[in-house]
Amino acid sequence: MSDYKYKRVLLKLSGEALMGSKEFGIDPGVPQKIADDIKAAHEAGVQIAVVVGGGNIFRGLSGAAAGMDRAQGDNMGMLATVINSLALQDTFEHNGMECRVMSAIEMHAISETYIRRRAIRHLEKGRITIFAAGTGNPYFTTDTAAALRACEIGAEVLMKATKVDGIYDMDPVSHPEAKKFDTISYMEVLNRDLHVMDATATALCHDNHMPIMVFNLDEKGIFDRALRGESVGTTVVD
Ligand code: UDP
Repeated sequence: MSDYKYKRVLLKLSGEALMGSKEFGIDPGVPQKIADDIKAAHEAGVQIAVVVGGGNIFRGLSGAAAGMDRAQGDNMGMLATVINSLALQDTFEHNGMECRVMSAIEMHAISETYIRRRAIRHLEKGRITIFAAGTGNPYFTTDTAAALRACEIGAEVLMKATKVDGIYDMDPVSHPEAKKFDTISYMEVLNRDLHVMDATATALCHDNHMPIMVFNLDEKGIFDRALRGESVGTTVVD
């Protein structure tokens, strides 16, 4: 345990990250890469909670843009996160890591229902605990679900794995001169409209002093380095 800085963390994975090189769905190599990355920390006793998005399968906003009722589309998006959560659970278990899925929407046959105290108990018992179905409410995102659950379970940090290696002052893809921040304040993220997480999630983290680490999922061993307290990517703090 001593090699690791954190005792309890929440990892936020976007649904798109699970696609890897595919155009839709799940590239099995990605869950396996995540399992490889967190295995040592998990074995060392770091308590790991996970929230995964659903953008690789369905997003409510896309449904609404195509004429669908927004809340109905969002319900479909939340179900997409359950599919991703089950895929991650399967991979973790194949790698010998005990894991539970807790859904914000009751689905007794395939997952437990989210109950905060029970979630904390799973974590204390060394089970990777995946929070599925977002917040259980339409009009929210899984970033907000991640911020909410991180606060609820008393995580020390919310780790957001993305496709870029941190937060830049402008889009680094279209602006090669973009400057990366090592640290940045919540207010600056909001005022500069930097889209690290949506504004609701950022404000929730701000109000509850929940640090957000943003880093690139594709870098080998990145979770392990982050969990050891190395400064990777960008950290959002007060
Ligand atoms: N969603 C929702 N409420 C929540 C979380 C998610 O309605 O609390 C829906 C919403 O439609 C969203 C979709 O689930 O578009 C997938 O989540 P998200 O877009 O956050 O996934 P990511 O971008 O991380 O893949």
